[in-house]
Amino acid sequence: MNQISTSEIINQVRGTKSVPGVCIICPWHCPTEVFVRDNKVVYVRGNENAPNKTTRCVKGVSSIHLSRDPDRFFIP
Ligand code: SF4
Repeated sequence: MNQISTSEIINQVRGTKSVPGVCIICPWHCPTEVFVRDNKVVYVRGNENAPNKTTRCVKGVSSIHLSRDPDRFFIP
């Protein structure tokens, strides 16, 4: 897996909208901050404004791929 530098992250989130949310992969439901551009998720991280200033585990960090899965369900 390639490491991503801080400057690459800054470039990814430039011009994006920050949306607070929670990770729903496991029962901990960690607070998250999702960066969206043109209705597409470009970056996900722990929400630094949350009371517990959470970080995310590796499953939570890779959750960005769930939103990009072409086989994702959009209806119940
Ligand atoms: S970030 Fe990790 S620990 Fe937190 S809810 Fe998601 S999967 Fe669970």
